[in-house]
Amino acid sequence: MISEITQGQLSNLRFTGRPLVICDVDEVIVHFTRDFEDYIGLHGLWLDTSSFALNGNIRHRETNIPTPEAQVAELIGTFFEQRTRHMQEIDGAVESLLAFGAKADVVLLTNLPHTAGDHRRENLKSHGLPYPVVTNSGPKGPAIRNLTDRGGKPVVFIDDSPSYIASAHEYAPEVQLVHFLHDDRFARHIEPLEYVTLRTASWAEIRAFVMKLIGG
Ligand SMILES: [Mg+2]
Repeated sequence: MISEITQGQLSNLRFTGRPLVICDVDEVIVHFTRDFEDYIGLHGLWLDTSSFALNGNIRHRETNIPTPEAQVAELIGTFFEQRTRHMQEIDGAVESLLAFGAKADVVLLTNLPHTAGDHRRENLKSHGLPYPVVTNSGPKGPAIRNLTDRGGKPVVFIDDSPSYIASAHEYAPEVQLVHFLHDDRFARHIEPLEYVTLRTASWAEIRAFVMKLIGG
């Protein structure tokens, strides 16, 4: 199911028929966790990374009691509202994506509140990325199916979230999947997914893999 807002953004995209690179943003192009930890620290909270989730893992610094789910959702919302414009690049992401853009269409597919979409666009532009940004909610597979049907081949999808990678595989099994996990505090909890072509903590590896695939 693609929301109306996402559908509208997808409909506006134009493709050249070259290969297609679809890339996530949080924790792939820009640092999310680091900044989020800083943000919740200001609220007397810390992120427990003993499992791969935000819910249940945002704890009060003094009591260690987990923050209730409704409050976690609120924190995430205010975080994106206040911090999206200032998020910092993960090493190697921008130059790699610019290299892909010489050979492929690039679309940035990001799950964050739609209301923060323009801040995200502004932030990515400030990092030098000229690519369209599609804001999505829920699983990413349906949007990836839509993009794959309309863009050129091959198609690559890069994300850190195992659930979005799984969703991509379910809806668009022909897409080459890159699982980027640069923070070992989370990577250690995630089993390898057999349908992932490349799992890596390094943009240099992604760059080499994707350039080869798209004929660079
Ligand atoms: Mg992400």
